[in-house]
Amino acid sequence: MAGFLFDKVVFGPVHSRRLGRSLGVNLLPAEAKCCTFDCIYCECGWTNSSNLSGRKMPERAAVVDALEKKLKALKQQDALPDAITFAGNGEPTLHPDFPAIIHDTLALRNRYAPSAFVTVLSNGTGLGNPDVFEALRKIDLNIQKLDAGTQLALNLINRPNRNVSTERLVQQLAAFNGKVIIQTLFLRGTVEGVPVDNTTESEVLAWIENLKKIAPAYVMVYPIDRETPAAGLEKIDPETLRAIAARAAATGIDVRVYP
Ligand code: SF4
Repeated sequence: MAGFLFDKVVFGPVHSRRLGRSLGVNLLPAEAKCCTFDCIYCECGWTNSSNLSGRKMPERAAVVDALEKKLKALKQQDALPDAITFAGNGEPTLHPDFPAIIHDTLALRNRYAPSAFVTVLSNGTGLGNPDVFEALRKIDLNIQKLDAGTQLALNLINRPNRNVSTERLVQQLAAFNGKVIIQTLFLRGTVEGVPVDNTTESEVLAWIENLKKIAPAYVMVYPIDRETPAAGLEKIDPETLRAIAARAAATGIDVRVYP
């Protein structure tokens, strides 16, 4: 099965097309995926909570210690990263100490790597927690996933393990008052016999309506890049991505395409 999992709390730096040299932080258990979504394209593979038995998230002190050691070493090598990025084996806001760890990370960044952007890649399902919301408001690059215009597409693409209302998610993202970046992966295919396509006219129109309500700083648009857990998914070509981006841009939204 497709899927790549991190075995460390701090990894990299790795080169990211969107973030430059990015030092990764994985707050989820090593080599086990932990997420509120089960996206059909997830690079970590399918979400399977039975894999989590006996596995723990790293403690706050261990995260801070690992990050400080790495930043110190990179500083000595004159190789500081462009970004410190919370990503890894799933949804970072699931860590119970996520707000405190963000607080610690901002302090470490200021001390060792003042020009690095503290970045979080999230699916937005933690936004109902006011402490998580506040922590995300304080970081530099608050990158939130929104792959769908409609509830149907969100359910088919992201397969949430809880009731996630697209309308509510859009409201929560709008509450950042522009201090949010939206990332959208476009795809099409058939999964378990059901057609999935967020590039259709009706989906793109609904997605643009959502973006207008959110009014993000900008939007990142990209296709599938690696092997996916679901078979039969199609990589969307650059021309189609650019055409979708141009339609959103025509409404005044800054859209960046990473084909
Ligand atoms: S939200 Fe991210 S980590 Fe979770 S299933 Fe989707 S792509 Fe994977």
